[in-house]
Amino acid sequence: MGVSSASATDTGLRRSTNEDRFSVREDLGLFVVADGMGGHAAGEVASQAAVEGIVAFVEATVAMSADQTWPIPFDPEQSVNANRLRAGFRMGNRQLASQIASASELKGMATTAVAVLIDGLAATLAHVGDSRAYRMRDGQLERLTRDHSWVEEQIRVGVLSESAARQHPWRNIVTRALSGTEELEVDTQEVQLKPGDRLLLCSDGVFTVLNDDQISDVLGRDGDLNALCQALIQGANDGGGPDNVTAVVLEVDAG
Ligand code: CA
Repeated sequence: MGVSSASATDTGLRRSTNEDRFSVREDLGLFVVADGMGGHAAGEVASQAAVEGIVAFVEATVAMSADQTWPIPFDPEQSVNANRLRAGFRMGNRQLASQIASASELKGMATTAVAVLIDGLAATLAHVGDSRAYRMRDGQLERLTRDHSWVEEQIRVGVLSESAARQHPWRNIVTRALSGTEELEVDTQEVQLKPGDRLLLCSDGVFTVLNDDQISDVLGRDGDLNALCQALIQGANDGGGPDNVTAVVLEVDAG
């Protein structure tokens, strides 16, 4: 059982630089999207460091098991792959810390990240901030991650609607990020896949423009995954392209 994937990223219409970064590693079953903040080059440095830290750690721990010594304490209540992702995020966070320590102009940089690690039909998700994962199954779109963001907290307590949140001037404010400043809390979860399922990892440049119905419409289309990624980028840009936009789409192969 394997997965097929496609990916696309774009600066958007109103930005000159792209602070989003992503990694597609079908050989590891690992897919990552990160969205950096901090202005000028710093946002790009942050998202790059996070992606590299996560990928490097997952790659280095292909054969790790629970009874070995881990560089970051192993949580026995979580799967090995959840531990690999959580530790990978923390390694990425430490990479940010060391880069900030060596270059004062990077102070204040931070990044979100969302990652999925796939082993057969078991998918492990990890995220920090407001980059998201969605699953499309039998024509139904389900959002799998809950943003660490100010607007998400307002939605949760019933103060904002989803559509009001997309318009809100504070929609970009994240309440948790990799910033190199503390031991990072990472949300992880296990998701069962079945053949034909599609997963979308994306930065907020996608969903602050496209609502769930629009994302669902694209992910439900037949055909080439590259075309789906391009349609998401195009949709975000047609909606004003206010932000960098990144989409990674996976499909679980049939049989
Ligand atoms: Ca963004």
